[in-house]
Amino acid sequence: MIMLTLDTEIIKIAGVGQTIAKRLEKIGLKNLENLLYHFPFHYDDFSKETKIKQLKANTQVNIVGQIELIQNKRSARKRMNITEALVSDESGQIKVIWFNQPFIAKNLKPSDNVSLAGKVEHDFSGFVMKSPVYEKIILGQTIHTQGIIPNYHLTANITQKQIRFLITKILKQAEKIPDWLPEQIIKNQKLLSLPDAIEKIHFPKTQNDINQARRRLAFNELFLVQLQSQSIKHELKSAQAEKLKFKEKKIKDFVASLPFKLTNAQKKSAWEILQDLEKNKPMARMLEGDVGSGKTIVAVMALLVASLNKTQSVLMVPTEILAKQHFASIGELLARQNIKICLLTNSEQKTNTHDIKEKSKAKTKQKIFELIKNNKIDIIIGTHALIQEKLEFNNLALAIIDEQHRFGVDQRKILIEKARNNKNDKNSPHLLSMTATPIPRSLALTIYGDLDISIINEMPPGRKKIITRVVSEENREKAYEFIKKLISKKQQIFIICPLIDESDKLGVKSVKKEYEKLDKKIFPNLKIGLLHGRLKLKEKDKIMTDFLKNKINILVSTSVVEVGVDIPNASVMMIEGADRFGLAQLHQFRGRVGRGKHQSYCLLFTDNDNPKTLTRLSAMAKHTDGFSLAKIDLQHRGPGEVYGTAQKGFPKLKVASLFDYELIKVAKHEAKNIFKNSDLNKFVKLKEKINLLEKSDYLRG
Ligand code: ADP
Ligand code: MG
Repeated sequence: MIMLTLDTEIIKIAGVGQTIAKRLEKIGLKNLENLLYHFPFHYDDFSKETKIKQLKANTQVNIVGQIELIQNKRSARKRMNITEALVSDESGQIKVIWFNQPFIAKNLKPSDNVSLAGKVEHDFSGFVMKSPVYEKIILGQTIHTQGIIPNYHLTANITQKQIRFLITKILKQAEKIPDWLPEQIIKNQKLLSLPDAIEKIHFPKTQNDINQARRRLAFNELFLVQLQSQSIKHELKSAQAEKLKFKEKKIKDFVASLPFKLTNAQKKSAWEILQDLEKNKPMARMLEGDVGSGKTIVAVMALLVASLNKTQSVLMVPTEILAKQHFASIGELLARQNIKICLLTNSEQKTNTHDIKEKSKAKTKQKIFELIKNNKIDIIIGTHALIQEKLEFNNLALAIIDEQHRFGVDQRKILIEKARNNKNDKNSPHLLSMTATPIPRSLALTIYGDLDISIINEMPPGRKKIITRVVSEENREKAYEFIKKLISKKQQIFIICPLIDESDKLGVKSVKKEYEKLDKKIFPNLKIGLLHGRLKLKEKDKIMTDFLKNKINILVSTSVVEVGVDIPNASVMMIEGADRFGLAQLHQFRGRVGRGKHQSYCLLFTDNDNPKTLTRLSAMAKHTDGFSLAKIDLQHRGPGEVYGTAQKGFPKLKVASLFDYELIKVAKHEAKNIFKNSDLNKFVKLKEKINLLEKSDYLRG
C-alpha cells in the first residue's frame, strides 16, 4: 500500500486499472487533486428511504429491500434483454426491471440486500421501478442510492458509479489541500475551510452542506478574479501613459469616408475612448456591445489615433481566422491613411507594406519582429501567440483586446507587462478590452472591478430581427428547400455541426460526415465548403475568402466560426445538434448572420426530444439579447457551462457564476482590503497560490 498524496496519480489507487486511468486522463483528471476538484454538477436527493407500501407513482425514491427473484428474459418484439426482479421489504413487494444489462442478474442474487434509487411508475401490473440505480448493501454502506447523491459530468466512458467509488476512496485526502485563503477572510465571511468544502461538495449530508460548500468554492474563484483585477489597478495607479492627441480633423474625415453612418452609441463610445487617450494616465476601458453592434470600427478609430500620434498599437484576438479578417478589413478601412499594419499569428506573418521574401516561417517572423522593433510597423494585429514570442515593441501606446472574454485575465496582464518591459520609460499602454459577453453595466462594474465601461447598446440601422426556429426532423426537407430558394437569390448559408464523440475533439469527423451528406446527396448542384480546426491556415483562408466572395454557397463548419467572423451576405445559420451547445454560444453563432441587408434566419436542429431541452432551445426564439440567454443557460446547465469555453475571461469559474451578485461584491470588498491594509506579499500562502495559477495559465495560453 502506498502513501497517497494530492499528486499521486489516479492509477496508483488500489483497484484502478490502465483503462479507467486513461479514460479519466482524457477529461483532464490525472492525479488525486484533479479528481477532488472534479465537482458534481447535480445531486439526486434520496435522503429519505420509502417503504414499498408507501410508494406513489411518478416519484423519485430510494427503497431498501431483499431480492426475492431475479432472472433474464428476452423480449421477442424488441429483441432486448430484460432483467426482472422482485424486491421486498417488510411492507410489501415491487417489480424492478432493467433493460439490456444482463450482467445485473449475475451481480444480484436472491436474498441479497439491495438499495435502489430511481423513479417509480405504475403500469397494468402495479408499481414498477425501471432501470433504477442499484447497489448491494454490504456492511450497511451505500454511496449510490441513499442520501444526497452526486452526479458528475462524464464524457469518457466512465460511469457515475465508478467515479463516485473513486472519490469516496480518496475523499480523506482533501484534508491535505492547503487552505490559501487568509484566515481573517474565512472568519469574516463565515466560510467553510477548504478541505471541509471539498468533502461536502462531493458527499453532502444536507442541502445546507451543498450551499455552504458551494459558497466557499465560489468565493475562491471570485476572490481570485477580483484580486487579479485589483492588482492590475494597483499597478496602473502609479503608471504613466503617452498622451495621444485627438486630431479632430483627421478623425472626422475618416468617419465621413466610411460607407455607413456611425450609430449614436458608437459615437459616444468612440468619444469616451478618444478622451481617455488624451490623458497621461493609461486608459483601462471595456467596450461592451452585443454581437454585430459594430465594435470594430470604434477600435479602428483608436488605432488610427495612435498611428496619427506616431505610436504603435496592438490588436490581440483569440483566433487566427479573426486575426486574418481584421488584418484585411482594417487594412481596407485605413487604406487611405498610409498606415503600416502587420499580421502576426503562429502560422502566418505578413505586412501590408513590406514584401517579405524569406523562405522559412521563422525567418519571416524574425523579419517582422525587426520591423516592429525598429518602428517600421504601426499596427500589429495578432493572436495571443504574439505575446508569448520574443516580440519587442518600439513605442507601444495602445493595446486592444478583441473578444476579451476568450482570454484569461492573466493573458491580459502578460500583454500589458510585455508592453512595458519593452520600453525604456515606465509608461504603460492604454488598454481597451472589447467583449460581447452580455452583462448589464452594474454587474460589469462589479465584475471588472475597476475598468471604465463603454456600452454600444444599439444595433446599426436596418438590421432585421433574425427569425429563429427550432426545426423538427420531419421539417428537415422543407428547411433544405428553403435554403435552396435563398441560395438561388444569391444568399449564403452556414451549417454548424457539433462533435459526434469525445475522441473527435476538433470535430473533424463530425463535420466531414455532414459535409459529405450535403455535398453528395442533398445539394449536389451547389458549392459547399468545409471548415474545421485541423485545416492548414492556407486552406482555411482559401475557404473563408471564397465564402466571402460568394464562390461557396454553404459553409459547413465546426464551432471555429463562432467568434467575430463577418460575412454580411450570409442569411441562414443552421445548427445541427443544437442541444449540445450553450445558449450563449448559440447566440454567438446566430450573430454570424443578420449582418447585411437580407432577412436572416437561425434554424436549430436537435434529435433530443426531452421537453427540457426543447424549452431551453425555444428560449433562442424568444430572446434576442445575450444576457437573458446566459441567465436561462445558467438555470438549465449550471455555471460552468454558461459561457462554455468562452468563459475563459473569468478564470476557473466552475462553481461561481456571473450572477452571484452578492458574493462578487463580498469578494471584491475583501480583495480591495488586501491592497488597502497591507500588500499581497504578506499573505504567503495566497501569493503562492496566485503564482501557481499564473504559471499554469501562461502555459495553457
Ligand atoms: P462586433 O461588434 O460583433 O465586433 P463588427 O464590428 O464586426 O461587430 O460589425 C458588424 C458589421 O456591422 C460589420 O459588417 C460592420 O461593417 C457593420 N457596421 C458597423 N457599424 C455600422 C454602422 N454604424 N452602420 C452600418 N453598418 C455598420
Ligand atoms: Mg467583433
